Amino acid sequence: MNRNQVLPQIQLSAELSALKKVDLCVPQTYQGGGFLSISDLPRLAEEASVIHSGDGFDWQMRTHFEDSPGSEPRQILDIGLNGRLHLVCQRCLQDCAVNLAETRRFVLVASEVEADDYPMEDEEQEPLVASQHFNLLETLEDEILLSLPLIPKHPDGFCEPHASSFGVEDADEAAGKPENPFKVLKNMKKN
Ligand SMILES: [Zn+2]
Repeated sequence: MNRNQVLPQIQLSAELSALKKVDLCVPQTYQGGGFLSISDLPRLAEEASVIHSGDGFDWQMRTHFEDSPGSEPRQILDIGLNGRLHLVCQRCLQDCAVNLAETRRFVLVASEVEADDYPMEDEEQEPLVASQHFNLLETLEDEILLSLPLIPKHPDGFCEPHASSFGVEDADEAAGKPENPFKVLKNMKKN
């Protein structure tokens, strides 16, 4: 018999206070989702170069129990994150939007010792210690932080030209204006 079908499934509240203490030691499964703004995630807010409206992360979570031959069924936590924040582009030093879409699977274990013993070669799922006050908010923030690019950059060709040296000329070109003949002359002299 599938254990998940007999366990009550709880809809997790998206309130921050509820996300900070999820009881993972009870025989029930959870599902939930919501939106976290950057200000809900203080460690991430420190990384952000600027916060635009709409920056933040949609999240989903779900737990289930998986039969494990010869031992207790294992509790699995799946999370999904999809959203955006702004970081400093390391090429032009202007703000650049970084979009992330991540899914992660964790196996919940009873203790730190059990987590340390968990086979490193299992890249599909990582161990997390279950508790009665499991901090899901922290786990979601950890995963966003771990997913950030080491060297954030605009896509090739999308860096902001430096406003003081190129900004005015670029604006003229974008508007399709013919080039000012005096400026052409000045540039010729320069060369
Ligand atoms: Zn750039």
